Amino acid sequence: MPHTPAPSLATHFTEGLQAHVVRFQRCDACGHAQTLARYACQRCGAQRLAWHDASGLATVRARTVVSRAPSDEFRALAPYTLVIVELDEGPRLMGHAQADVQIGQRVQAGYFEHQGRTLLRFDTQK
Ligand SMILES: [Zn+2]
Repeated sequence: MPHTPAPSLATHFTEGLQAHVVRFQRCDACGHAQTLARYACQRCGAQRLAWHDASGLATVRARTVVSRAPSDEFRALAPYTLVIVELDEGPRLMGHAQADVQIGQRVQAGYFEHQGRTLLRFDTQK
């Protein structure tokens, strides 16, 4: 059988963003959901993780304003707002957000292109 290298775990997530879908892993053993791609479940250690598409609906759990960008790539965007959101499916992830977003607000995933990459931006639900 020919050996085909497994795609990087992060590729599933990155390709999802390019298709404007937030993807997450859910453990087939215990149902735990996570967004950081891993080979094993963070909760129970099982390796039966399947990828799912999230609805993109989420609640803001933390927010911060970045006034000094950590790299040249993001300097043009500064100052910008970053949030940690909890997806309705359970896992948390970080993304950009509209400047006036508040903790506890309901938001929806949006997408923008920056220097050849697709990035997340959460906006309040209309
Ligand atoms: Zn598990």
